[in-house]
Formats: sequence, structure tokens, C-alpha cells
Amino acid sequence: MKVPDIIIAIDGYSSTGKSTFAKLISKDFGFLYLDSGALYRGVTLFALESGFIKDGDIDLERLIPALDGLDIHFEDGSKTYMGQRCIESEIRTLEVSGSVSPIAAIPQVRCYVDKKLREFGEKGRIVMDGRDIGTTVFPNAQLKIFMVADDNVRAQRRYDEMVAKGETPDFEEVLKNLKERDHIDSTRETSPLRQAEDAFVMDNSDMTLHEETVWMRGILQGRFGILDPRA
Ligand code: C5P
Repeated sequence: MKVPDIIIAIDGYSSTGKSTFAKLISKDFGFLYLDSGALYRGVTLFALESGFIKDGDIDLERLIPALDGLDIHFEDGSKTYMGQRCIESEIRTLEVSGSVSPIAAIPQVRCYVDKKLREFGEKGRIVMDGRDIGTTVFPNAQLKIFMVADDNVRAQRRYDEMVAKGETPDFEEVLKNLKERDHIDSTRETSPLRQAEDAFVMDNSDMTLHEETVWMRGILQGRFGILDPRA
């Protein structure tokens, strides 16, 4: 039995492995994967390149009107573009990570991103990850997952990811950035990061990717009676 045309919302703290897990299950189920954080990162890159962020201060008077003409979207499946330009690697730097949470706390930025995310979600059959997908963007998503993991495990994952890309990060800096983002994301006024009441919680601190797939299949079986999502 195939997985029905549902939306799967995956939320959780920074670097809990949401995107890895989301990509894994989207492949397993034949769904489209969309990374909502990439759009917030895209807006942040735009703000940095436009000189709207100086010494940590955001020039709201210039940023907010500029959102009207800003074209950030996904192409080739799940790659992030600003206009014609693929910005997939530029949006993952520590510089963007350092400014993205204050940018994502701006209500007008959230509105800009939410509108795009909802357009993608209209047809269902998507796995979307972020911080407020199950609570704000798609509160009626048929399946919600909330991911958590130990702080050091998360920082190590992000650190390894950056090293694999040829960067030379400082572990303590990476850990500090994660904690700062979690704090800003959980305490902001608009759509703070929180667990939806009907979400299944996964703590993957000690889980392998295979164990995560098995966990997910257990949920599918219990929820929809599906034994093999690819059958
Ligand atoms: O998922 P990722 O770490 O790439 O997200 C970058 C940032 O974007 C998060 O730290 C958070 O501030 C913001 N975000 C958000 N709501 C989402 C997705 C991401 O506020 N749905």
C-alpha cells in the first residue's frame, strides 16, 4: 500500500538531523523534500549582500520593502535559488547561520516565507522540515515529527558537515551558534519553535539512519496501516 498524498511536517532544534531524515524518507516514499530553513537562509544572504545587516543590526526600513521584489525559490527538486543564481552553498556558511535567527524572527519575513511554503504544500506528497511547519505553516499536516538530540552530538554533526565542505570551523563557535539559534527560535513572538501536541518525538542522539527509517516505518504502520511504503 502506498503512502497517501499527505504532508509530513518535521520540526525540531538546529542540527538535529531534520534534513537528513527528511531527505531519507522523501526518497523512501517518493515524496518531494522541501527545506524551509533554506528560504530563511536565502533572505539572510540577500540582507547581508545588500548591506542591510551591519554589526548585528538589521535595517528593517530597507529590508521589509525589498522583500516584495525578492525571488527566492526552489529549482531542480530542492535546490535553493535567488533569481537565476543557485545559492545552495552560500546559505550554509557560519556567517549566514550567525544572522539567520534574528532575520527569521521578523514577522514580515515569516509572512514572506510562509506564503511560499504553503504554495508548495498545496499538492501534498511533501516532506517539509523547519521550526514551525507542524504548528503554523501546516497545522493540519497528517503526520508531524519533532526531532531532538543532545547538544554536543548536534554540534559535532554540524562541525563534520562543514569540515567535509573544506571549511575550518571552531567547534565551540559551532556549538555556541546552535544554542543561540535555539534560544532565539524558541523565544521569538511570531511562530516560536515548539512541539505540536500531535507530533511524534524522535530523539536521534544515538540512532543510526537505518534505525531512523525503521522508526518511521513503525509510525506509518501504526498510523496508516502501511507495511511497505514503496509497495
Ligand atoms: O533549518 P536551518 O537550521 O537551516 O534553519 C535556519 C534558521 O531558519 C533556523 O535557525 C531558524 O532561525 C529559521 N527557521 C525558522 N522557521 C523554520 C525554518 C527555519 O525560523 N520553519
